[in-house]
Amino acid sequence: MCGIVGYFGKRKASDILVDGLRRLEYRGYDSAGIACLFDGRIDVVKNPGKIKDLRLKVDSAASPILKESIQGIGHTRWATHGPPNEVNAHPHLDASGHFAMVHNGIIENYKDIRSGLAKEGIECISDTDSETLVQLIAFCYKGNLEDAVSEALQRIKGTYGIVVMTDHEPGKLVVARCGSPIVIGIGRNETLIASDASAIIPHTRDAIYLEDFDMAVITPDGMEICSVDRAPVSREVTAMDWDAAAAEKGEYKHFMLKEMFEQPQSIRNAIRGRLDYEMGTAVLSGLDFSARDAAQINRVLVVGCGTSMHAGMVGEYAIEEMAGVNAEVEQAAEFRYRNPLITPSDLVVAISQSGETADTLAAVREAKQKGALVAGLCNVVGSTIARETGRGVYLHAGPEIGVASTKAFTCQVSVMLMMALKLARTRRMPGHEGTEFARWIQRLPELVEEVLKQNDAIKAIAQKYAKCEHAFFIGRGYLFPVALEGALKLKEISYVHAEGYHAAELKHGPIALLQEDTPVIALLNNVPGKEKTQGNAEECKARKAPVIAVVSAGDEGAAEGFDDVIVVPDCPPAITTIPTVVALQLLAYHIAAARGCEIDQPRNLAKSVTVE
Ligand code: GLU
Repeated sequence: MCGIVGYFGKRKASDILVDGLRRLEYRGYDSAGIACLFDGRIDVVKNPGKIKDLRLKVDSAASPILKESIQGIGHTRWATHGPPNEVNAHPHLDASGHFAMVHNGIIENYKDIRSGLAKEGIECISDTDSETLVQLIAFCYKGNLEDAVSEALQRIKGTYGIVVMTDHEPGKLVVARCGSPIVIGIGRNETLIASDASAIIPHTRDAIYLEDFDMAVITPDGMEICSVDRAPVSREVTAMDWDAAAAEKGEYKHFMLKEMFEQPQSIRNAIRGRLDYEMGTAVLSGLDFSARDAAQINRVLVVGCGTSMHAGMVGEYAIEEMAGVNAEVEQAAEFRYRNPLITPSDLVVAISQSGETADTLAAVREAKQKGALVAGLCNVVGSTIARETGRGVYLHAGPEIGVASTKAFTCQVSVMLMMALKLARTRRMPGHEGTEFARWIQRLPELVEEVLKQNDAIKAIAQKYAKCEHAFFIGRGYLFPVALEGALKLKEISYVHAEGYHAAELKHGPIALLQEDTPVIALLNNVPGKEKTQGNAEECKARKAPVIAVVSAGDEGAAEGFDDVIVVPDCPPAITTIPTVVALQLLAYHIAAARGCEIDQPRNLAKSVTVE
């Protein structure tokens, strides 16, 4: 989950490292640090807190090493073992201070390693699992860093993305991965290493993505890649196509706000060239099975976590309704551990913005093992899930930096709707219906624009409820996953305890929690069962809970008697999920802003959940 950067080249390393960490801060922001090597010595600066504090500390340090070095490593942490403080922050040094390492992941047998090292008289000073690895590498060192890293990695269990250097061998960086992403950027006279491309794209577009158990050795003479146990491997250089400016905030106050407003464009990018109006279908070239193969799919199983799982639920409903194919959604970790029944006629769709979500990746491997057709829906090109599934659809949402996902969700739903259309047209859906649905998908950007125009009105509603400590979101049918997602957004960024419920479920317990200061956001748009949800909202009102009604344009009467109303464009149930969720994103954002929360970096969270 953390951010890793490494640099060796001709420029001032500390500047590149701190700037790279700033770009990766969304991956973890408990604490951060850099280590630089110059003139045969290593210097480390670490700090609990944000990158801006680290920058101040680095700038005010008098160290000539930091000022002159052209080689270094950096890390922004999402703590797994030990609280976020200076000692636990990375880079970690070995006891002699000659080896420095940054690590992303978890060393599962760190306690055994630590006690083994203690028997050799080597004591760890931090609470982290990571420090044991650098101590072990130093212990294994006999004059060649890659040999030591290779030996140490063969003794550990767990996941890692690491960059290591030693002042015994200036100019050398050793990089390895297992379960945590690493990308190596090849610039002119310089090499950059990062846990994701956003730290590299300002410097170069040429990159190599390491695979699990790869080890790269970077020296002034170039780079060699082998496996951790030293077998030769060859990896291709790929061109990264993200625009560096897309990962900047621009004039927006927060990345989340920028990303919400980017949605008309990101959806346009997600659907561009993928709709065939004449045949009334979707052309998803990454789903490389023929119409005949598609017709043989008996079941679609969607796996994901958090927001991606909610997008999967919308897909589940659409696939069943439109294509008549049995569809199910499962939390990715559950899928992996409960030994699900899979057959070769199952299509497993793994949804992950980053393409690195550890549980979703594990589910992909399990599904492949069991012989299913597997497809990935990822935003990050070249990410592990995208590569391991080998088949799927990229979202083209552009970099999503705000920890709370917005534009990736609406692109995921757009793609799931196209997938449902493609499957439906191999089955029972007639061409004219397919064309009509494709036209609705095409209209999604303008429907979202309609909602974004109401930003001020939604802000005013948000301010009214900003002090609430609990909130409920209720919906039915396609709007049930939207209620879940609306509640998730609110809790992620505002720390309001929010629950999404099926509208019918409220009576089976949660209604006991309703009070005068517990707003209920009732999704009353035009979907089957709307009147029933209206009745459920009345039940809340009767218990004095204020109700914010979300209704379809032309049906404003549905909000009568409720406290506040948000109107979204009238459109078919599957389509309405997207404009409705955008309204809920804005509501969550403005509640969080009114509460003074750190919207782009909510407490305890991080983007790209690479630990299980
Ligand atoms: N497990 C390590 C720690 O707690 C690395 C965490 C991370 O990936 O940021 O320090």
